[in-house]
Amino acid sequence: MTGPEGRATRWWLEGGDEQCDTCLAFHHVEMEVRCEACDGPYCRSCIAEVRRERLLLLCASCAADEADS
Ligand SMILES: [Zn+2]
Ligand SMILES: [Zn+2]
Repeated sequence: MTGPEGRATRWWLEGGDEQCDTCLAFHHVEMEVRCEACDGPYCRSCIAEVRRERLLLLCASCAADEADS
């Protein structure tokens, strides 16, 4: 849960330069996945795999757009 400082220290979420547009967590570039539609930086847990002609890595909003069209 949370530590004595009120929040957990997780190295893989802190100190990174990239911020996930979905969960707003900062993460390291090594943990980053780019959405193939909007090219935004996301963490792995927020990227959806959408199968089309090939496997696409899309963020939640782009995956929703894909599902609609
Ligand atoms: Zn995320
Ligand atoms: Zn996207």
